[in-house]
Amino acid sequence: MASEALALQIRGRVLLREHGAARIANEVRVEWNARLKTCAGRADFREKLISLNPRLRDHPDEIERTFLHELAHILAHLRAKNRRRIAPHGPEWRDACRDLGIADEKRCHNLPFPITERIRRFLYKCPNCAETFPRVRKIRGAIACLACCRAHSRGEFDPRFRLRLVRYC
Ligand SMILES: [Zn+2]
Ligand SMILES: [Zn+2]
Repeated sequence: MASEALALQIRGRVLLREHGAARIANEVRVEWNARLKTCAGRADFREKLISLNPRLRDHPDEIERTFLHELAHILAHLRAKNRRRIAPHGPEWRDACRDLGIADEKRCHNLPFPITERIRRFLYKCPNCAETFPRVRKIRGAIACLACCRAHSRGEFDPRFRLRLVRYC
């Protein structure tokens, strides 16, 4: 299983180099992560980490597709570097999918296993205390870490503690 992740990691690095992302290609890592519940995969574009659900082992055909879906998130993010935010499955991501050979990829993962709980697609992180905040939906507007605002800003909103989106499925 570990060797399969390594093989995908090597492939991911080659693909990124081929598509103009040589700068970060060697930072990309692929792991199996048993804590993924209903997500088939996940891309953390700050850590350059692709996590795959070990339950995909029962559905080998889905591994490749999920891997490319997540790699497309990382590629789209790198290309959009100078823009503040991009939609998770917006045009930048679809362009990346096309370049990676999965032009017909759907915005939602076609999970090969039943969904038993709502998928928390968005993970936010406090830049100060590193507390994480999983969310089903994207946060609109500015939200700061309450604990840090209380500890350092007398409970007032402080942009230093604004939550940052670190990954989505
Ligand atoms: Zn905090
Ligand atoms: Zn996705």
